[in-house]
Amino acid sequence: MLDQAKANVQRPERFVTRFAPSPTGLLHLGNAFSALTAFDAACAAKGRFLLRIEDLDASRCRPDYEAAIQKDLTWLGLAWDEAPLRQSQRSAAYTEALQSLQSRGLLYRCFKTRKDMAAAMTNAPHGFPAPFWGGPIPPALESELLSQGAPFAWRLSLERCRALLGPAFGELRFFEAGQGPNGETGWIAAQPESQGDIALARKDIGFSYHLAACLDDAQSGVTHVIRGCDLHAAAHVHRLLQALMGWPAPVYVSHRLILGPEGQRLAKRDKAETLQHLRQTGLTPNDIRARLGLG
Ligand code: GLU
Repeated sequence: MLDQAKANVQRPERFVTRFAPSPTGLLHLGNAFSALTAFDAACAAKGRFLLRIEDLDASRCRPDYEAAIQKDLTWLGLAWDEAPLRQSQRSAAYTEALQSLQSRGLLYRCFKTRKDMAAAMTNAPHGFPAPFWGGPIPPALESELLSQGAPFAWRLSLERCRALLGPAFGELRFFEAGQGPNGETGWIAAQPESQGDIALARKDIGFSYHLAACLDDAQSGVTHVIRGCDLHAAAHVHRLLQALMGWPAPVYVSHRLILGPEGQRLAKRDKAETLQHLRQTGLTPNDIRARLGLG
């Protein structure tokens, strides 16, 4: 009888969301808005709230920032339902996904440097920053560069993805329950072309945000990706990765960005808007909520 009652209460898919900070600095008001929005949504849906530490960039991430982030979130009144997932400890899972794409011929090595890419963008017709469409280079040149130890990125070839998926490539959609920066909302046709052949791993830096975030969201059972609208565009290519890997597509909930006093985007280096500083000036978590319009 009890089981029957429980079965009626439990929804087939329980709401799961997450906050995924990069420990490259202290949390600011914009990060607090993201974390609180996701946490409140999980509470309202009687779902789960997860914390993921996006610490792939070893040159910029620091354990003391991670500790400070957890302290700030706890101070704000947030609690997470599982031990935080640390991306730096998930190389095996990312490698497996990368190999799966590689074995289907969907990746190619790109030896272009950041400087090459910047020049390609400047020279693009009408000054429009064209997405990258480099494509594979001739095998002989590739072998030569490899033998010289030149660094490279593994890029996802949209041309090969299109060939593999056929008409399904053009039919990919995702649901935006919030709003993109230009008011994009509802069902949206995925246009991975808008992002070009994205890099999924870099020989010198490691796995890319796109691969790691998509895989982690899928494996953690995230049903709602709640984050700033500056990342709305990433969903176009994340939807493609989900289709290629057979991962479920979450609902995207892009929210407005919190701007600084001069209307600027907040950055972790703007000390004045960090939670740590605001706490030291005597503000309470409720003051922070009020300031963010989260009453
Ligand atoms: N780590 C990203 C950031 O701090 C968030 C990525 C995401 O929520 O998907 O901006």
